[in-house]
Amino acid sequence: MSVVTLTLNDELISANSDQSLLEVIREHDIYIPTLCHMEGLSERGGCRMCLVEVQGSRTLQAACVTEVAEGMVVTTHSERLRKYRRMTLELIFAERNHVCAVCVMNGHCELQAVAAIEGMDHVRFDYLHPDLPMDISHERFGLDHNRCILCTRCVRVCDEVEGAHTKDVLGRGINCRIINDLNQPWGSSQSCTSCGKCVEVCPTGALFRKGATVAEMVKRHDFLSWITSGREKNEWDYAGQAPYYATERRKE
Ligand code: SF4
Ligand code: SF4
Repeated sequence: MSVVTLTLNDELISANSDQSLLEVIREHDIYIPTLCHMEGLSERGGCRMCLVEVQGSRTLQAACVTEVAEGMVVTTHSERLRKYRRMTLELIFAERNHVCAVCVMNGHCELQAVAAIEGMDHVRFDYLHPDLPMDISHERFGLDHNRCILCTRCVRVCDEVEGAHTKDVLGRGINCRIINDLNQPWGSSQSCTSCGKCVEVCPTGALFRKGATVAEMVKRHDFLSWITSGREKNEWDYAGQAPYYATERRKE
């Protein structure tokens, strides 16, 4: 790993060569919106909210999946970027049903918050609003496809952190759906451990706890950094150090 120098919004800065642009931008306290990104999960670059301008590049780049490079010149805010972010948000709102007033996540939804920050006050595109089913077969959780923005946080946390890989994506384009196992009802999944991690990372009301009121639907993300940093530091590696229960059993 080496240190590179780049220009971020007209300021000369240095960064580690293995950092992403998004990490560096956040380190410098510059706000750019994200929806699919989540600290502790792999990057997907799917929501396109963190697009930035990189001098010399014909297209806009997603900061979360772009590594810093020596001499890079990056702009995080411009009229062009504002228009793209706004249009992307409007397309998300037009695709499925995101009527906040009747959503259990109203007031706690990341999509709603990003739209407010970006000043999205109307949608210029025709609403598709397909009538998608809900899966409420799980005894504790529900999945409402109408609220899903296909960020795949649930898929990644289930695979990368829980290790169950219950969730996946079926289909392409606007026909994409989040599925459980081989597209079976969540409640009959053999691989789901009912840990609830997917529900906690979901940015919208697509995944929810059954019986929770609007006021109770605050989602917790702190468990993710706790688990991932604990794994990195081997805090739960008992090799060479017998766990308490094993010591006690040996005494018996
Ligand atoms: S509850 Fe846990 S195991 Fe089940 S789908 Fe969600 S993250 Fe995966
Ligand atoms: S269910 Fe939630 S976490 Fe999963 S893809 Fe849809 S919006 Fe993202």
